[in-house]
Amino acid sequence: NLAISEGEILGYLYSKGIKPDGVQTLDKDMVKMICKEYNVEIIGADPVKVEELAKKREILDENDLDKLKDRPPVITIMGHVDHGKTTLLDYIRKSKVAASEAGGITQGIGAYKVQVPIDGKPLPCVFLDTPGHEAFGAMRARGASVTDIAVIVVAADDGIRPQTNEAIAHAKAAAVPIIVAINKACQLDMSALIDKDGANPERVMQELSSIGLMPEDWGGDVPIVQISALKGENIDDLLETIMLVAELQELKANPDGSAKGTVIEAGLDKSKGPFATFMVQNGTLRRGDIVVCGEAFGKVRALFDDAGKRVEVATPSIPVQVIGLNNVSIAGDDFEVVHSLDAAREKAESRAESLRNERISAKAGDGKVTLSSLASAVSSGKLSGLDLHQLNIILKVDLQGSIEAVRQALQVLPQDNVTLKFLLEATGDVSSSDVDLAVASKAIVLGFNVRTPGSVKSYAENKGVEIRLYRVIYELIDDVRNAMEGLLEPVE
Ligand code: GDP
Repeated sequence: NLAISEGEILGYLYSKGIKPDGVQTLDKDMVKMICKEYNVEIIGADPVKVEELAKKREILDENDLDKLKDRPPVITIMGHVDHGKTTLLDYIRKSKVAASEAGGITQGIGAYKVQVPIDGKPLPCVFLDTPGHEAFGAMRARGASVTDIAVIVVAADDGIRPQTNEAIAHAKAAAVPIIVAINKACQLDMSALIDKDGANPERVMQELSSIGLMPEDWGGDVPIVQISALKGENIDDLLETIMLVAELQELKANPDGSAKGTVIEAGLDKSKGPFATFMVQNGTLRRGDIVVCGEAFGKVRALFDDAGKRVEVATPSIPVQVIGLNNVSIAGDDFEVVHSLDAAREKAESRAESLRNERISAKAGDGKVTLSSLASAVSSGKLSGLDLHQLNIILKVDLQGSIEAVRQALQVLPQDNVTLKFLLEATGDVSSSDVDLAVASKAIVLGFNVRTPGSVKSYAENKGVEIRLYRVIYELIDDVRNAMEGLLEPVE
């Protein structure tokens, strides 16, 4: 419910020279335009954006478009520490995977597949095994996007906490749809939601709506499932909800052709040598294929699935562990199949080279989003070219109360040329996951009465992210205002 009348929207469209005839449905661009005009944020996945992302990473190309087939959704579980992420992942794995596998417990490969019965038919979905927004953010900072749906776990007895907010910010910035699992609460007896003393799912729902995640039950678009990860209560509901959201996403890939995708886990095994888990995102990976993967390459000698079984192929969304690489890669690296070892070597070398150059230019601050670069873009009139007409801000402050104070003071600044967008407002020192979010979303980090640990500072420098720390609120406001007006003097 946007509280904008039909007449108002019609008036706005007329003012833009669009004459809707009353029965016409609004196309995506019109809806976006209206949302922008009325300062309404579109939550959830924007299919256009997701497609753009996929293209950007060159996962799908034109030849794929007429051969697209459904692929399983890939899910990441995020949330505050101790809210039950690991318990949930373990429960799903144990109850849905282990039973069918002969060998029993196997070592994880970083992701696993489960079958969810929908209308009597089992449909696969894939869970990434490293919970939390840190891993999610680190992947995105490397340009990778493998997650289709984020499940945010919130403990019913604790409510929304700082890392819940961070997880939501990361998911939103990635335009990944969110499902909230209210944990430590069972829905069996609505009058007594008593998995844990003090569990109050209703309060969690209020908190969610107050930060813009309106529960479906209350007329919004965020599915909420009350679960108990410990007792395994309502997990089937959660899985079904995941499949429903996935269906709306129309997740597709072309299983024909050579494979492309992302490394989700990598390491060195004493006997097997370097290994990596690939998430195939397009095409089909086969034993014997020659792959380039980050700066590593090699011939795929063996493939293992999530149950530790040798397999011959891996299709889209299916994680497999790959043996045969010449070197250790990093989670977030992309991989692709090439036709010969020579081509692979060449590609790996040129990647190493371009990565070196990227690092150098990040250090030199080329193309970096800073208040000074914003100021000079404004004063030279080059705003639109630099994509800086929106300044993305990650705000870290000392106390909950400071969030409102700083945000309100910034929001009243005139935003005719440059609009301010807050990706994350949270308490606590600047963290490396804040830096990852800034890299992936081209944001700056503003800190008020907080610090940046040394390791995070050098990480930010390497990634070309500006962190500005303040002790006096007016200085922070003045700097942002001056930058927006093109008046900020460069500091360097
Ligand atoms: P994580 O840090 O988010 O991965 O949280 P964990 O999965 O490690 O869970 C933290 C604690 O909460 C553990 O002691 C779990 O046993 C407990 N826990 C997790 N899920 C539930 C639940 O549904 N009900 C109750 N009562 N406790 C839970």
